[in-house]
Amino acid sequence: MDNNAGTEALLHEAIRENLKKIKGNIEKACREGGHHKNPDDVTIVGVTKTFGAGTVKAAIAAGIENIGENKVQELEEKQAAIGRTCKWHMIGHLQKNKAARIAGRVSLIHSIDSIALLTELERASKKSGAITDVLVQINMTDEITKSGIKPGEVRAFLIQAGRFEWVKVKGLMTIAQYTVVPEETRPVFRNLHKIFIDMGNEKLDNINMEILSMGMSNDYMIAVEEGSNMVRIGTAIFGSR
Ligand SMILES: *Cc1c(COP(=O)(O)O)cnc(C)c1O
Repeated sequence: MDNNAGTEALLHEAIRENLKKIKGNIEKACREGGHHKNPDDVTIVGVTKTFGAGTVKAAIAAGIENIGENKVQELEEKQAAIGRTCKWHMIGHLQKNKAARIAGRVSLIHSIDSIALLTELERASKKSGAITDVLVQINMTDEITKSGIKPGEVRAFLIQAGRFEWVKVKGLMTIAQYTVVPEETRPVFRNLHKIFIDMGNEKLDNINMEILSMGMSNDYMIAVEEGSNMVRIGTAIFGSR
């Protein structure tokens, strides 16, 4: 159809504009928070769930290098359409029985919440011949609707996670509860940043605390002010789902 080229140009333009605004906000949050010297130390993961491959292509064209998906099937479909021209992130809950489909295919899994899942990933990663980098998801507010390790159990979990050879822990992730007033989320981010620093200082065997994935469209500025170095942003870049 004739209209397609025009619509696509609009999509590209909107993504570029939104990204520019977000980068400006991240720069400001870095200044105010004082955790990062350089705004480029904060990685933006563009969350394209529910959007089609065309949106992912537009995101990559706009300079987004990291793409996040929350469902295995959707990730596979978009990967098949787009290939490896970006770094793929699995950010959603991952079932054990789907671990084999993900191992060797993504740059980072954000959502590790059990040793059983790590065990499956270890097996699948070894088979694929590629190490899988992961983050441990922390449930900071004890919400039963959310998966994740409780803050008090992080250390013991990491000690166990350090025993795997083909799965490497690179940091922590959390999903904050949505609040109308994002400022209310600040203590959650501050507490997780503290755990992140503490666990790094412990220098646990085979555990790296390099990546702290926290902050979404609603609250990424506060997350960065509190030390996040990876934000997962969907709506603010691509519009509402
Ligand atoms: C959907 C999703 C995001 C992005 O949410 P927005 O509010 O659209 O920015 C981030 N992280 C996870 C785990 C998600 O599922």
